[in-house]
Amino acid sequence: MSVVAGNWKMHRGPAETEDFFRELDLAGVGPGHRLLVFPPTVSLTTAVRSPERNRRIEIGAQNVHWEPEGAVTGELSAPMAVAAGASHVLVGHSERRTLFGETDRDVGLKAEAVVAAGATPVVCVGETLEERRAGEAEVVVERQLNHALATLARTTASFLVAYEPVWAIGTGETATSDDVHRAHAAIRSRLTEEMGPDRAAGVAILYGGSVGPANAAGLLRTPEVDGALVGGASLSPASFAAIARAAPSGGTGD
Ligand code: PEP
Repeated sequence: MSVVAGNWKMHRGPAETEDFFRELDLAGVGPGHRLLVFPPTVSLTTAVRSPERNRRIEIGAQNVHWEPEGAVTGELSAPMAVAAGASHVLVGHSERRTLFGETDRDVGLKAEAVVAAGATPVVCVGETLEERRAGEAEVVVERQLNHALATLARTTASFLVAYEPVWAIGTGETATSDDVHRAHAAIRSRLTEEMGPDRAAGVAILYGGSVGPANAAGLLRTPEVDGALVGGASLSPASFAAIARAAPSGGTGD
């Protein structure tokens, strides 16, 4: 089973969300694949309730605050996202880290809040170009992961990890299969150290960074890659379906 997740970022309001599900044709998509869509907050309820949505597609939130409620203008809490029907929440997306100054500590708190609310966090990690050039990619990813694992490894909750090298997001640059394999193997080995081999094997590790219909088959067949987190190419129903069609069966899909 592969996981194919679409992060719509700040695109597709409620009407365009309905359009997406109306136009999406999942013919030929493997029956075991796990399909997730992360619409913007304003479209969450529309996506969950859409009569046009194929019920194979689960809906997630792109971000939450770590407090369950409070005087935090403009934010969404994890229990609210769950009440709206979100089954998953992205935490620590690089755009949150770079544009909004989210720290590893914040990401850990968010992951904890998502689990406490009964949803599944998708913990996003990945190095910047500068960090990669400085030979620090593995250290950075490990540091980011450690903060989330400090909470998650103590629970029995399931979670996913998305490895998204920042230099590959929205740039058209993709990491090579070798790069991706190496990074995912390092993440798997860190998970194994922290949680033991059985539980670590059950964590789906997604690759994200300019995945599209043309490169999805190769990336999704890379060892240790259990799926893709797709930004730009997930906005088109045709390309989202094409990526899902390219995903191999087998692997981890929690
Ligand atoms: C993302 O934002 O998670 C992402 C991977 O974006 P893109 O596919 O557009 O690079």
